[in-house]
Amino acid sequence: ADVKTDIVVVGGGGAGLTAAIEAREKGADVILVEKMPILGGNTTYATGGLNAAETAFQNNGDTTELFYRDTMKGGKEKNDASLVLTLVEQSSDIVNWLTARGADLTDVGRMGGASENRTHRPSGGDKVGPNIIDALSKKAEEVGVDIRTLTSAVEITTNNNKIDGIVVEENGSRYKIDAKAVILATGGFGNSPEKFETLDPALKGFGTTNHPGATGDALDLIKDLGVATVDMTEIQTHPTVVPVRNTMITEAVRGNGAILVSRKGKRFVNELSTRDVVSEATLQQKGKTAFLIFDQGVRESLKAIEGYAKMGLLTEASSVEELAKKVDLSPKDLEASIKKYNGFASAGKDKDFARQNMKRPLIKAPFYAVEVGPAVHHTMGGIKIDNKAQVYNKSGEVVEGLFAAGEVTGGVHGANRLGGNALTDITVFGRIAGDSAVEYIK
Ligand code: ADP
Repeated sequence: ADVKTDIVVVGGGGAGLTAAIEAREKGADVILVEKMPILGGNTTYATGGLNAAETAFQNNGDTTELFYRDTMKGGKEKNDASLVLTLVEQSSDIVNWLTARGADLTDVGRMGGASENRTHRPSGGDKVGPNIIDALSKKAEEVGVDIRTLTSAVEITTNNNKIDGIVVEENGSRYKIDAKAVILATGGFGNSPEKFETLDPALKGFGTTNHPGATGDALDLIKDLGVATVDMTEIQTHPTVVPVRNTMITEAVRGNGAILVSRKGKRFVNELSTRDVVSEATLQQKGKTAFLIFDQGVRESLKAIEGYAKMGLLTEASSVEELAKKVDLSPKDLEASIKKYNGFASAGKDKDFARQNMKRPLIKAPFYAVEVGPAVHHTMGGIKIDNKAQVYNKSGEVVEGLFAAGEVTGGVHGANRLGGNALTDITVFGRIAGDSAVEYIK
């Protein structure tokens, strides 16, 4: 049966849940549709934290100006300055908003590209993504958002050039949801090889760190509406992701001394060059993967590695020869590669690949290997919005009744997203989308 509401939110990740709660708390009737069986989307996968400046939990000289400059620099100045300004100015507020709704963001650390500690995350060892999704799911239910999982938006409908709802599919049958405003919060397209390979052919063969629902449905939904997009080819990849399991191995493992070898047991790249270079070089290797190789010294230097060990991702052996046999590399070649690399590390000069930073020679047993390959991580581009989360068409006009927030939008991150900025983006603009939609339907 067809249904009627004030505002329909499409997508139940961090952006959609935030928008739905905000709109509901401001008095609107809200239906949220989520195509997967569970809420959370890519937001559940977030492990870093939420960047915010001038918050109650920081104890340093951080400012919104610094946060602004770091974000613009990280995005190679390609970011939409007005969106970034809104992002940083509302970051402290959103920490309070989320905290008041049950999230734990009391611990503050630092991620790449930040000049002060501003990455907020739970203190209790909880992962930040699941912590936020848990809190927001409960809150949404409590305030009376009508949540419909396994319900996929398949069309955005218009009447007299105004958005008037969506058509959804549930269990193979379709029905219409009449709404005065639609908020798109469907996330990115990092799990649609068809879409990302078309936009950037260099990504052919890449895996993904994204959840199965990140298929860029919004790009199909907006096709007939003439909606504008920005930065569509800005796609962030990560070079060291465990195939099939899609677990990302942090760059710090290489930073602390690990090397990368091919299936032949040979180094093939400066392991610390930029993500795109390492990814590209790995794809040239047999099987399109590589092996991260390190020793007990590296393991002891980095807490994250204990996590990988617990997840069963490490192959461990008491000698290099045994390690090579276990992961099917030539023992002779791997031994020779490590010996050569250790020589470079002692001399402080990598004659093969000019790696600058060689923290320690790999000499302390046991030795470890992890098979990794490049994967798509975040899609920076998307629907063009302004700082009211209003959506624009290709002629530069506002599409009345349509709002968007989160990874489905483009512009906030420019050419490169800083770690910790996604959670800020989706919650700040999710909340704004909720507010703007409520204003619009008044
Ligand atoms: P964000 O971080 O921007 O909130 P997420 O990936 O966390 O993005 O959440 C987006 C959510 O939208 C996912 O849970 C995804 O399954 C859902 N979604 C994607 N396409 C549709 C669709 N066509 N209909 C309903 N939900 C969708």
